[in-house]
Amino acid sequence: MAVTDPPERRALPVLAGAPAFDAPLYRTLLSAPGLSVLAGALDELLAWGSRNALWVFPMATSCCGIELMAAAASRVDLDRMGTIVRATPRQADVMVVAGTITVKMAPRVKALWEQMPEPRWCIAMGSCAISGDFYRNLYSVIPGIDTVIPVDVYVPGCPPNPEALMHGLLRLQEKIKATRAGTFAAPELNPALLTTTRPSIARVVDADRDPTQSDQQTASADHATASDKTDARPEGSPEPAAYEAVAPDASPARDFADLVRDEFGVTDIPAGMAPLVETAKHVALARRLRALGYKQLVYVVVSHYAAKTGARAAPERFELACAVRTVGEGSRVAAWRLALEPGEAVPTLVGVYAGADWQEREQYDLTGVRFAGHPDLRRIMMPEDWVGHPLRKDYAADTACPPWR
Ligand code: SF4
Repeated sequence: MAVTDPPERRALPVLAGAPAFDAPLYRTLLSAPGLSVLAGALDELLAWGSRNALWVFPMATSCCGIELMAAAASRVDLDRMGTIVRATPRQADVMVVAGTITVKMAPRVKALWEQMPEPRWCIAMGSCAISGDFYRNLYSVIPGIDTVIPVDVYVPGCPPNPEALMHGLLRLQEKIKATRAGTFAAPELNPALLTTTRPSIARVVDADRDPTQSDQQTASADHATASDKTDARPEGSPEPAAYEAVAPDASPARDFADLVRDEFGVTDIPAGMAPLVETAKHVALARRLRALGYKQLVYVVVSHYAAKTGARAAPERFELACAVRTVGEGSRVAAWRLALEPGEAVPTLVGVYAGADWQEREQYDLTGVRFAGHPDLRRIMMPEDWVGHPLRKDYAADTACPPWR
């Protein structure tokens, strides 16, 4: 009898519902009359091998990742059950999602999942991976990894300890065995409970999930992983500000309050608070402090204040706080503030402190305040096409972000 190429795949009764192994020998056995009985034995052998050699791809993003690492260490020692951790999806059988998954990360997780060969499994480790946990309603976090990829085993906890992960892997082994044997039965879900545990977008396995959701996620993942290949600055952005070495001033250390009063005309210096400095003097003050030995930029932080009405009426405004410090023994810190109107730009400090580059980008990303002269004022935390600035008071924390949340 001629063997078709590829041979027609016939499912054995015991394997109904289970994904078929795709080994050439297996296909040959299935297609040859009289030999298909051996396929059952071969299937059992392959299933035994696959469930006792579950190689893990660690999708570890936050605190739960530490527990995952501990599970691979000597005390719990996942190796003894054939489970080793591989830092490549192409040689892994099970993705362990350990930690919070953000909207920006979700497309990458999906792209990595797609690179894992079949058969593949997923374990959601910890409350964040299961449901988003505390961050479930936050603009940047997806409400569970099962809204992106199918999950086989949930390991609850915050965090689950290494033993709990091992327990999850043992449950996965049982599930693989039962699935291959055709005896796996999905647990019945309590409909009343589902009304409270249902994520804001349907899980991958939910029967009423809109099928276009998965297509949109795949397209989004392709876009996200294809568009970040270069770190090129956007066209039209100014040339990188030359970092100007500031000549050290060897004069004795000066009190910061005296300095801003005498040299920068600040008269109101409230006790225990950083003084307000004119925006036009921001860079000059930073340069002066740098000359006096304040070598480290500690922070650049912008706060947004929404307009208030009533007895405490106040217009909308922004406030930028900046701090620098001397390094070494007896370190001193100098901090000041700028008051900003909506839409007012701040001159960049990149030419004085190289570290201002990413700090200013972060503040721009989250609050929308622009830094004039910054060489690369792009978003740094949120995706490039994100709408709005999440740390503005008028930004709704539970803003939806299709197709991820
Ligand atoms: S579940 Fe808890 S321990 Fe795990 S990543 Fe979330 S906050 Fe951290």
